[in-house]
Amino acid sequence: MKVNEVKIGGLILGSGHPARIQSMTNTLTADHAATSDQIKALIGAGAEIIRLAVSDMESVASLSKMRSQFPNIPLVADIHFDHRLALESIKAGVDKVRINPGNIGSDKKVSEICAAAKDKGIPLRIGVNGGSLPKDIEAIFAGAGADALLAAAERELLVLEKNGFDDIVVSMKSSSIPISVEANRLFRAKHPFPLHIGITEAGLPGAGTVSSAVGIGILLYEGIGETLRVSLTGDPVNEVIAGWQILSALELRSKGIRFISCPTCGRTEIPVEKLALEAQKQLGELNMKISVAIMGCVVNGPGEARHADIGITGSSTEYVIFKGDNVLDKFSTDLPVPEVIDRLKKHILEM
Ligand code: SF4
Repeated sequence: MKVNEVKIGGLILGSGHPARIQSMTNTLTADHAATSDQIKALIGAGAEIIRLAVSDMESVASLSKMRSQFPNIPLVADIHFDHRLALESIKAGVDKVRINPGNIGSDKKVSEICAAAKDKGIPLRIGVNGGSLPKDIEAIFAGAGADALLAAAERELLVLEKNGFDDIVVSMKSSSIPISVEANRLFRAKHPFPLHIGITEAGLPGAGTVSSAVGIGILLYEGIGETLRVSLTGDPVNEVIAGWQILSALELRSKGIRFISCPTCGRTEIPVEKLALEAQKQLGELNMKISVAIMGCVVNGPGEARHADIGITGSSTEYVIFKGDNVLDKFSTDLPVPEVIDRLKKHILEM
């Protein structure tokens, strides 16, 4: 199904545009200093769309300041229950509003939000979560499976469509990966609206990243998902980093250097983990679309990492920086790890 184009600030979702990474601040939006610091950190990590919870008028005031402070990053207001907060957020200049039409209170209030969004030319995101489906839908479908998520999303869609509003992004999330994947597949087969994908309540960064990578990864690989959020407990910067890692692993998009390092084994002769961590630290900010390999032995390392753009390996006495079959540099393993990576960096900058 051809996906509609939806504009969020300067970005376009759908119609062949790349999947965009978004995250959500977890500071109090009314606390302008804390939230703007978090937005800066999220932008630094590569967030392309940032959502903020707007739960009172103080949050709207803070959002309004944020708008002038960050004119170029698409900002999304997340609204529950109070339609006036949506209207005020639209006036404050947000680029998208996330609502749940079911908890806004009345059709008239939803109509007012649709009219204000249409007037400003901004989209609405609607969506359902497996943990909070309408009770009647859960009863009809005997639970919160993929068909129930689809039916709940279609009910919300109908509310907006009755208002003549079709500038829509939809999300259908569950903490179950198979249900999330299936619901999004079913939706994509029937509707042209861009999908915001993710696994809800994924958890702490370790297990949560794995769940998100599997669920989001399956969908992206099938060409489903125009924007993604990796939901993790804790600092949202981790969500953005994980989002990029998922896109990069699927070779859909990349941000900066892609690191490859061997798992190490009985042949390992150099401190691979220390080198990999130092490389991430020193080279992580370089905006170069290359792959860098850190391999634990000269016997297999260069061969296994031949596809990398540059790599480092070594024996007990000597580090070797290589590019394909060519040795670019050799030096003693007496050199401390930070200086080893500094030397690698010099070669990278000459590429
Ligand atoms: S590159 Fe060498 S050290 Fe690393 S896993 Fe392979 S054989 Fe082991």
